[in-house]
Amino acid sequence: MNLNPFTGIEKLINEHGSAVILKERIELSKDIISNLEKDNAELKKKLDDSILEIKKLKESLELKDTQIKESSQNSFKVKKIGASYYKIDDIGNGFGDPFCTLCFEDECKLISISQNPSKRSESICPKCHSKFNWQPHKNLKQ
Ligand SMILES: [Zn+2]
Repeated sequence: MNLNPFTGIEKLINEHGSAVILKERIELSKDIISNLEKDNAELKKKLDDSILEIKKLKESLELKDTQIKESSQNSFKVKKIGASYYKIDDIGNGFGDPFCTLCFEDECKLISISQNPSKRSESICPKCHSKFNWQPHKNLKQ
C-alpha cells in the first residue's frame, strides 16, 4: 500500500480529470458523428438523385440512338441533276423519280413529280402543281 498522500490526490485528479476530458471528447465525437451522418444523408440523397438523373439520361440517349438509327435508315442524299433533284447512290449517280425543284428549294420538301395525266409531255408536282417539261428518269447520268 502506498502511503504517499499525493498519490491518492493525483489518482483522484487524474480519474476526475480523465472523466471530464473523456466526456468532452465523447461529446465532440458525438458532434462529429452527427455532422458526418448529416453529410452522409445529404450525399446519399445526391447520389440517389444522380442515379435517377443518369437513368433518365440513359433512357433519353437510347431514344435518341433509336431515332438516329431510324433516321439514318430512312435518309438519303439528293443532288440536282439537270433541272431536278434526285436521290443519289453511294457513288453519286441519281436514281428514282425526280423531286419538285420548287418544293425542295423553297421548303426543303422532297415531293416526287409525276407525269401530268392531261399532258403526257409534261410532269407535274402534286403539291405545288408546278409543271415541268422533262420526264421522270431523264438526265440521271452526269
Ligand atoms: Zn412542288
